Amino acid sequence: MSRAESLLRPEIAALSAYHVPPKRDLIKLDAMENPYDWPSEMMYEWQSRVAGLAVNRYPDAASGELKDALREAMGIGDEYSLLLGNGSDEIIQIIAMALARPGATILAPEPGFVMYQMIATFTGMNYVGVPLGDNFDLDMPAMRAAIEAHQPALIFLACPNNPTGNLFDQSAVAEILDIAPGLVVIDEAYQPFANYTFLPKLSDCPNAVLMRTVSKMGLAGLRLGYLIGAPCWLHQFEKLRLPYNINVLTQAAAVLALRHKAVLDEQAAQICRAREQLNADLQIFEWIHSYPSAANFILLRIDGDADQLHAHLLNDGILVKNLSGAGGVLSHCLRITVGTDTHNQQLLDSIARFRP
Ligand SMILES: *Cc1c(COP(=O)(O)O)cnc(C)c1O
Repeated sequence: MSRAESLLRPEIAALSAYHVPPKRDLIKLDAMENPYDWPSEMMYEWQSRVAGLAVNRYPDAASGELKDALREAMGIGDEYSLLLGNGSDEIIQIIAMALARPGATILAPEPGFVMYQMIATFTGMNYVGVPLGDNFDLDMPAMRAAIEAHQPALIFLACPNNPTGNLFDQSAVAEILDIAPGLVVIDEAYQPFANYTFLPKLSDCPNAVLMRTVSKMGLAGLRLGYLIGAPCWLHQFEKLRLPYNINVLTQAAAVLALRHKAVLDEQAAQICRAREQLNADLQIFEWIHSYPSAANFILLRIDGDADQLHAHLLNDGILVKNLSGAGGVLSHCLRITVGTDTHNQQLLDSIARFRP
């Protein structure tokens, strides 16, 4: 046995790292990125801001200006605290570290966001995945039974859910908040495309916090997530945040982008229009079932070999996410991010050339 193998925690040795395909010159429809650039005036403004930044100095540890800009742009009231993470992935990790008492459990519906389970493993927590029911909605008898049996310290509910794209029924979410013995994280990574937010109900739910990210709304390269919640929770989580986790460039770029939130909102609206168009256009392929989506991606189930369609698209220079390896309800499934009209058309043309 190598020294690494003998020293490593066995559950870490057994993991495979989160796979990101190498960057190539492809039409990227795999990672829920916003395909649009900033308008040139905004780009010029950014370039002049960058020139004035002191990268020899540590960033503002409290990210004060950025938090003010987030409160203003997102309508977050003073009754809430904010916690910032290097992506919301880091926030998931901070919350898990805080709640990882021996034997503590994370529970989440499945299929769901893979980082919940990975971070449970990183932090030594148990993980319980509860299969979704019909139409990928919460299976409440199964959720009730699992919550009762496992008494999870932490439940994640992604609204809309990734990779299924749907919003869960809100009365089911309300019941989970009611019966949960621990903390419930409402993950609104796709809120900009959903026409819905839990935010107005947050103050009625002392055991809930609301997590968001700027990634899917057009700032994935900045790595910035934020948690909204009661000070009693966030004050504790703040202790686990590494100092200076939000760098100088991210703070400055996010402040600037949030001051131009109308640009990001218009891009999100454009993506929503393109999503509906793409979903309508996909109906001509009777061997594809496309699910309705409240996010910036569409889940497809192929009546045929999803691996082959994935490879065919790649051969045409289009990268989508192949989920079929996950098995279960995701067998034969691909997830496509909504792109520009041109890219969506190229996707449709490429699909039309495929023989299932
Ligand atoms: C993408 C995603 C995140 C993580 O986003 P960051 O880029 O780390 O901020 C969190 N939750 C869900 C459901 C996601 O799909």
